[in-house]
Amino acid sequence: MPEEVKNQAQREMERLEKRKRLAYMVALACGVLIFLLSWIIREPDDLFILVLYPFFALVLALMLFFVWRRSFPLQQLEAVMFTAVSAMILGRLAWHFHLGGELDDHLLMLAGGHYWSVGVLIVGGFVMLDHKKGIIAGTLVILASISIAATGIAGELQDQEVSGQALIYLARIHLFLGLLLGLAAAATTLRDKYRDALIWNNSLQELASTDMLTGLANRRAAEDFLEKQAYANRRYGRKVSVIMADVDLFKQVNDKYGHSRGDMVLVELGRILRNSLRETDLVARWGGEEFLIVAPEIDMQEAKELAERCRCAIASRQVAGINLTMSFGVTELREKDSVDTVLSRADNLLYKAKSSGRNLIVAEA
Ligand code: GH3
Ligand code: MG
Ligand code: MG
Repeated sequence: MPEEVKNQAQREMERLEKRKRLAYMVALACGVLIFLLSWIIREPDDLFILVLYPFFALVLALMLFFVWRRSFPLQQLEAVMFTAVSAMILGRLAWHFHLGGELDDHLLMLAGGHYWSVGVLIVGGFVMLDHKKGIIAGTLVILASISIAATGIAGELQDQEVSGQALIYLARIHLFLGLLLGLAAAATTLRDKYRDALIWNNSLQELASTDMLTGLANRRAAEDFLEKQAYANRRYGRKVSVIMADVDLFKQVNDKYGHSRGDMVLVELGRILRNSLRETDLVARWGGEEFLIVAPEIDMQEAKELAERCRCAIASRQVAGINLTMSFGVTELREKDSVDTVLSRADNLLYKAKSSGRNLIVAEA
């Protein structure tokens, strides 16, 4: 049913958000640990770590708290987290290039740790932000990194304090970052396209097998289901009951209350029938005001009881504000039956119920 589909989509979104929050909590906790460990094992003269890392750890811990308490919508938190972590990582890069002394002394640290963080940030951008924003954010991060490096080494170049090797190193790193951005963008594009195709495929299948008015299975889906049940019956001797049900004097409902009220009746009837059956039973709108029930694993006696339950459920209440009844033809699949034979038998039994006065169940003798 459209309402059910909506609820399902809502639940799926909630589950995804929960997982994302959990992943962020783990990542933020790791971040806090990394900052604290780096603070403990810092070089004695590293002022940046001494002063700022405890502050960074505190900021991450605070964000961890917000994610855990769900204080803000996830999308807002994601944007804040990305900005804050970018500022931390780029700030550290800037310190290395501008304040930390000679570049050659820092290259190992930069390549070994800090550019990895930039790489993780670029990939994380696609997770935290969406695909398009991920590309923009990643490009901005790389441009910021290039300009920090370029302005930082400009002075050293003039004084010829920076080696050619270091320049090649930095160029390679930025090339790698660019490739990483391209790779992450391509991977997320593929993932998104694959997901869209899956969703599209599922909706098409759903559309092709659902009755648009009632949200029940349509005739086609019912035939498929019955075909599979007939196979199970032939192959494994599984019992399958087939019940054809039709609203009594429905034309009068339309004539008296109008077609759209008639439609409301059909929707409500679908819901009543669905609620009277097991999950494993199929109820389909066979056509007009006719419904087909296929109930696996029950014998004729149980099928009659099931039909009686449905008949009573409808006759004992108002359906969309109208008193009405339904008639039922009850049969079961036999070994030599084709789908058509069992359906026409159910139809004949239903016809008998109609000619015997309606609001009745007629079952195979
Ligand atoms: P019986 O007890 O013999 O089944 O009588 P009946 O009036 O129900 O049977 P009949 O086949 O003469 O009429 C069925 C009516 O169902 C005619 C048609 O207008 C109506 N109908 C079929 N499909 C729809 C639908 O989708 N919406 C509405 N509102 N009415 C429909
Ligand atoms: Mg009818
Ligand atoms: Mg009919």
